[in-house]
Amino acid sequence: MTLRFGSVSSDLDLDARGRRAGQFGLTHSSDRHAFSTIRAPLGVIRGDDGPTALVCAGNHGDEYEGQIIVRRLFERLAPEDVSGRLILAPALNMPSVEAATRLSPLDGGNLNRSFPGLPFGGPTCEIAGFVATQLMPLADLAVDLHSGGTGTEYLDAAYLCLTGISARDAQTRGLALAMGLPFAMVVPPGDTPGDFDSAAHDAGCAMLSCESGGEGKVSRRALEAGWQGVLRVLADQGMLADGVAERMGATPAQQTRFLDLGAGAAHLTSDHHALAEPLVRIGQTVETGQPVTRLRDLHRLDAGVLDLIAPCDGVVAIRRSTGIVAPGDHLAVITPELDARSLDALLNQACAA
Ligand SMILES: [Zn+2]
Repeated sequence: MTLRFGSVSSDLDLDARGRRAGQFGLTHSSDRHAFSTIRAPLGVIRGDDGPTALVCAGNHGDEYEGQIIVRRLFERLAPEDVSGRLILAPALNMPSVEAATRLSPLDGGNLNRSFPGLPFGGPTCEIAGFVATQLMPLADLAVDLHSGGTGTEYLDAAYLCLTGISARDAQTRGLALAMGLPFAMVVPPGDTPGDFDSAAHDAGCAMLSCESGGEGKVSRRALEAGWQGVLRVLADQGMLADGVAERMGATPAQQTRFLDLGAGAAHLTSDHHALAEPLVRIGQTVETGQPVTRLRDLHRLDAGVLDLIAPCDGVVAIRRSTGIVAPGDHLAVITPELDARSLDALLNQACAA
């Protein structure tokens, strides 16, 4: 059976038992692609009866750890290791993966703002529509792996994207704990319209995304954190046979600290064209009033320095890593830590809104 949305299609058999590698293809008419199809890898591993997990990366093309993790799953897992079905898409937005860019060079589209997609709405919207209408409805669980991209560095963190639906949010909280990364960011409902997470929730999937590393590099630390996190989630869902996650290198989950990436978070933003000096490292706990970034005028030696200070206590969750900054550029995000009671309150508040 052919899966198709607009000009994106795949003939890969996702139903039969076994492990198969295929592709989905995007037909796009441009000078370069007038007589070709842009192919992206798609894999399936189907073992005994069980749930279906859709594990994706390459949503943004300049984020690499997730792309490696999804390919590793295909390389290392056999059908007998899996209870259920893994659908693996390591390069969702292949035009941006090929170009190592966040956005598609074909149409400037940001795949993670293009869901649920539009038939014949341009390449990025069509890939989003293919994922949302052809793959997500098959899945009980969706996992989308991100990194910081070229210009930023992120904590190794699961993302608890709240929906305001109590049972769904409790489920995502459980998944974030199962992932066992050092941190989980709590994101308020509707924070990122058009993203993968919202589309997966709309399709009825349990959903977890995560961030690890960034700066346009492959970090071994972030890669291993993400790899272990994905194995733990699949094991938690009963999708890996006993001992498989350990055989693949999974260690016990770490204690996860929850951070408020919503109203409680503070963005430190430049008002100047400047050279930025980081004064803190990613994941560092800072106190109110602590200098976080030092700015220097680009053109004058005698203008003095300007320190941007933390307006609240919290953890440095996101840090810009480019040296030259402009007015409006966010340089860091300080996220207050949520204890169990304040996390409960935030989830209840989301449901009441
Ligand atoms: Zn991303």
